[in-house]
Amino acid sequence: MRATLMYAAGDVRVEEVPDSVVKLPTDALVRITASAICGSDLWPYASLEPEAGPARVGHEFIGVVEETGPEVTTVKRGDLVVSPFAISDGTCEFCRAGLQTSCVHPEAGFWDGQPAEGAQAEAIRVPLADGTLVKLPDEPGPALIPSLLTLADVLGTGHHAAVVGGVSPRTRVTVVGDGAVGLLAVLSARRLGAEQIILMGRHPGRTSLGREFGATDIISARGAEGIAAVRDLAGGYGSDVVIEAVGTMAAYQQAVGIARPGGVISRVGVPQFEDAPVGWDSLFRHNIRLAGGPAPVRAYIAELMPDILNGTIEPGKVFDASASLDGVPIGYQDMADRKVLKVFIRP
Ligand SMILES: [Zn+2]
Repeated sequence: MRATLMYAAGDVRVEEVPDSVVKLPTDALVRITASAICGSDLWPYASLEPEAGPARVGHEFIGVVEETGPEVTTVKRGDLVVSPFAISDGTCEFCRAGLQTSCVHPEAGFWDGQPAEGAQAEAIRVPLADGTLVKLPDEPGPALIPSLLTLADVLGTGHHAAVVGGVSPRTRVTVVGDGAVGLLAVLSARRLGAEQIILMGRHPGRTSLGREFGATDIISARGAEGIAAVRDLAGGYGSDVVIEAVGTMAAYQQAVGIARPGGVISRVGVPQFEDAPVGWDSLFRHNIRLAGGPAPVRAYIAELMPDILNGTIEPGKVFDASASLDGVPIGYQDMADRKVLKVFIRP
């Protein structure tokens, strides 16, 4: 079968690899029909050392179950399924608490980092299939597939940011970052009824989609100027919830500057740093809280899917390009160059 391999920064190739097969009784083999390139894939695309490669890549997919191990009970051959970006057993104490990204099962983990599997490929072996996969309606129609694919990561991640930030009808929200996750955090904040949603971004195509998703204001300035503009719009003292959907130190500092006393910074951008200011001048003085982490999107699929199926939300609008597997290397470069927002892959 064919799969995407990242050899090093800037070097993505599609090659023949050994066929994925069912190995354990709890596995499923899924033929991938829709996949994507994620903004978080751009971090290794910018920095992967050749010694660390080649790595299988891709962590968002929809596909058809081709085979299941004898212990799999919730999906069967022929089912259309979506997979979250994390593998989980669905039964441990963290899974039961809705924190599947902290599953303690030895086979649990993230698709990124699986040595022999990746979602930018023709097929994939899914460990712990009962806990990991979610069955989709049998024939949702091609128009709904991009939106259903966002349940694998970007919609669930934007929703998680809003939920752990405590967004409610009375909250003023600022979203730092105009990538797919930032834009879907806007949609999620709107869906939860936020009163004001300020989107910080400077790419006109993205900010106009942000408005369509529910942003009430757009701020293109950054740094001290951006902080002052947001505080001004948010009643002078800043936002109740700041969703940080980038992961850089600059974005974190922006969030610290924008959070209102007693407010929450909700982080879903994968942090590219370990040390950050949390002391008197940054968080402590005004009781600002930090929340966020890898989103347990598995926990949110049941809640979010009906809104996609009945047309209330259309998160698939974040896909502004599509490619076959052969087009994946160019898709990476186009996303890295910010020529396109997010690439939909038809393997
Ligand atoms: Zn678990």
